Amino acid sequence: MAKKTIIIGGGLSGLLMAYRLKIKGASVLVLEARDRVGGRILTLESETTAPIEMGATWFQREHQHLAKLLYELKIPAFIQYMKGATFYEPAPRAPMQQIEFPNQLPSYRISGGTGKLIEQLADQLSDKELLLNQQVERIIFGGDRVIVKTQESEFEANQVICCLPPKLFVNTIYTQPKLPPNFMKVAQQTHTWMKDSVKVMLTYAKPFWREANLSGALFSQTGAMKELHDHCNVELTKFALGGFLNPTLHHLPKAKRQQKVLAQLVGIFGEVANDFLTYEDLNWADEKFTTQPHSIDPHPHQNNGHPYYKKAWFDGQLIFAGAETSEHHSGKMEGAVASVEQLAGMLEI
Ligand SMILES: Cc1cc2nc3c(=O)[nH]c(=O)nc-3n(C[C@H](O)[C@H](O)[C@H](O)COP(=O)(O)OP(=O)(O)OC[C@H]3O[C@@H](n4cnc5c(N)ncnc54)[C@H](O)[C@@H]3O)c2cc1C
Repeated sequence: MAKKTIIIGGGLSGLLMAYRLKIKGASVLVLEARDRVGGRILTLESETTAPIEMGATWFQREHQHLAKLLYELKIPAFIQYMKGATFYEPAPRAPMQQIEFPNQLPSYRISGGTGKLIEQLADQLSDKELLLNQQVERIIFGGDRVIVKTQESEFEANQVICCLPPKLFVNTIYTQPKLPPNFMKVAQQTHTWMKDSVKVMLTYAKPFWREANLSGALFSQTGAMKELHDHCNVELTKFALGGFLNPTLHHLPKAKRQQKVLAQLVGIFGEVANDFLTYEDLNWADEKFTTQPHSIDPHPHQNNGHPYYKKAWFDGQLIFAGAETSEHHSGKMEGAVASVEQLAGMLEI
């Protein structure tokens, strides 16, 4: 009989792992804590406005594992719009500059939004293979079976694959027996990519920046938005701008953040920037299934792809995958996909 595998986390890595193992004939169950799949991928859709990305958005040509997956799932991608002048604020009190962005390899976005990838992967699983609102709290290893406990339920399997950031895992899930102290130390000091960024998105009735021969992009060392990009849909029927808030403003309440962002955008693009249809922002530091407040704050990519994440623990009953376990492009979607593709081929089912 095929091994039963429980996958913890229904983000990109967990859903892809389930899909790959299912193709191999395994019996899989994904337990996802949130009431939605996708983890750090979150595309908000509406009938009237452009799909907006509150999480992962771009990939590059060298992200080959991700590109192959998109090809396999027949999900098209398109080049990030960068035509026209880009704004650049180099330093406080330095004048705003308009630059032509240097000709470089383009970034790509997924048509319809990054959420399309998540939707397609989740569609491959039945209602019995993917359960939402199941925050795993405890895993008990021993003998030839593993018991996985959530607040209200208990599940049994032969192996568990952990597909959430390692730091979150060791801070929120109790294992019995305990993992070795060296592992715990490394995991506590493993950085989770974008764990405390604030993504801001504004939708508009018109792409006023394109009409003025502007790319919509902005890079600022001083303003409320440190980075801004065109976020129109691929069909060019719905229009949006979005990017990352300056970290010095993360502590402000949402209404204040919005005020500061609009003041900056009006200063750059003129009053037209105030005619937005919707404003959304998301502080990922408030997302308890991504980030846990903790005294140790690793520096970017610290311990990502550590050899400990390549090992199977408890006689092969505990395995790790996910963006932070990958040595290459760690923290990114490419890292998440690569970690799964490497592991899924080797796993016994
Ligand atoms: C704002 C932002 C912008 C980004 N931009 C980009 C980008 O442009 N390009 C790029 O390549 N990458 C980007 N990323 C990174 C990208 O989102 C991640 O690399 C990728 O989504 C990670 O997938 P994952 O499955 O490894 O982890 P996650 O997406 O974190 O998935 C982990 C899952 O586990 C679940 N979970 C947590 N705790 C439990 C528990 N106890 N029990 C059960 N389930 C649990 C979570 O809810 C989540 O669904 C960005 C991330 C953010 C936040």
